[in-house]
Amino acid sequence: MSNTGVADNILDVEKIRKDFPILSQSVRGKPLIYLDNAATTHKPNAVIERVRKFDAEEYGTVRRGAYKLSENATQLYEDARQKVADFMGAEKKGEIVFTSGTTQAINLVAYSFGKRFVNEGDEIIISNIEHHANTVPWQVLCEERGAKLKVIPVNDDGELVMEEYEKLLSSKTRMVAVNHISNALGTINPVKEITEKAHAVGAKVLIDGAQSSAHTKMDVQDIGCDFYTFSGHKMYAPSGIGGVYGKMDVWEEMPPYVTGGDMIMQVTLEKSTYAKPPARFEAGTPPITQVIGLGAAIDYLEGIGLDKIADYENSLLEYGTRLFKEIEGVRIIGNARHKASIISFYMDAAHPHDVVTLLDQDGISCRGGHHCAQPTMIRYGVPATTRASMAFYNKPEELDALAESVKKCIRFFS
Ligand code: PMP
Repeated sequence: MSNTGVADNILDVEKIRKDFPILSQSVRGKPLIYLDNAATTHKPNAVIERVRKFDAEEYGTVRRGAYKLSENATQLYEDARQKVADFMGAEKKGEIVFTSGTTQAINLVAYSFGKRFVNEGDEIIISNIEHHANTVPWQVLCEERGAKLKVIPVNDDGELVMEEYEKLLSSKTRMVAVNHISNALGTINPVKEITEKAHAVGAKVLIDGAQSSAHTKMDVQDIGCDFYTFSGHKMYAPSGIGGVYGKMDVWEEMPPYVTGGDMIMQVTLEKSTYAKPPARFEAGTPPITQVIGLGAAIDYLEGIGLDKIADYENSLLEYGTRLFKEIEGVRIIGNARHKASIISFYMDAAHPHDVVTLLDQDGISCRGGHHCAQPTMIRYGVPATTRASMAFYNKPEELDALAESVKKCIRFFS
């Protein structure tokens, strides 16, 4: 244990940092301190090199060519799907549908599930702390189908009020869509309990896993949810790739979302029939290289161990929270009992946009804004927050530097 209280026997962070070439950069003459991991994460050499090798030596189209390069690329692509399935705890590889990320994944489910199962008078439940990606698609669906959107309230600490959730559930509920970890507050939601309660009234459940996939061990079968989304760029993989797990029997009932090549069984000029899932939901040439990179990122994460990652990041969170609680004039927004490594804070002295501009002068990358969660900001009566989001390559000394820089901001604006 170092004198910061952050356990230094869980991970060799200095060694891990050498895996991420971007982290050795300087910004404005200061060492880069990257604390915007909830927005996107950096790539380790293992991913960079795997992507380079694939493009340089193995690249080919998938699912179509009967020649060596294409057969090999198809095998690697499907191997990556298997890795994702194992990583998420899915029963079958075919339950994983690749998309460009969580936004597209939720749009796919809202459109396709909605078209088949949501009708006038039905209800969809989300929470007050969702990303816009898990809000707007459901609003659009409700508008189109004459359904009603209901919202689980949160308490002052940023936790869902479960008694209110239970009151919202009824035989009219078709879908409950909530995040596993809130990107704006860091709250870890009780997704297993949420799922059990929704299933008890016959509703399906989608978990937005954009923030959780690289921070906690996932087990979609243990949670029991019907859908679980993820974004590769938030889990050390390339951007442009992500996806959604779905239970096969639910996928099978759903119509296609995007149509075209590769998602069909047969096409005549009169009529088309559709392929089985997952192909039904993967029209067109997929982001092949990015899928291979995603597989490499999963290998890398598993090499370190999700349990160790979670323990180390929790330790960082505790340390950072202690530091921030001591800074006068700063209010942490989101104090849930179960939290991931995100500290969102607000100071009356300055708008978060000004705060992050000053932090940047010290080489610190933090996010200031509404984090695509405007209803959450409204709930807590702030226009925006400054958010420090940590990964396992961050060090306690970086949080010390952040705290000092924040104190400087307060002096500057007061
Ligand atoms: N949901 C949550 C909780 C998120 O944090 C994000 C990204 N900030 C998204 C959805 C959207 O993910 P993407 O931009 O990768 O599609």
